[in-house]
Amino acid sequence: MKSKRSVRCPSCGEEADITCLGKRYGVYPSGCFLILSLPLSMVHRLSSPIEFRCRNCDRVFGKRTGFGIFGLVLLCLILAFALVQGLLLLFLLILGA
Ligand SMILES: [Zn+2]
Repeated sequence: MKSKRSVRCPSCGEEADITCLGKRYGVYPSGCFLILSLPLSMVHRLSSPIEFRCRNCDRVFGKRTGFGIFGLVLLCLILAFALVQGLLLLFLLILGA
């Protein structure tokens, strides 16, 4: 298992000459804020891959960080929780009617 910090180019295997370009989704589409709640979209933003460029072969590639994977898992948990809450509310409404 490689250390979290090292980024390797998927095409030539270069490790030293990698430039970080930042988040792939630099400008977050404003419509997502209406669909998703603000904390949820923030978690989603954190889980988006970071883009890197290899200066050796000029290839641009995205890579998820350890925290990004954690964010993605968190996002799934929040969505699952929201789904369970929704189903529970629906169930209570049916029982109450
Ligand atoms: Zn390369």
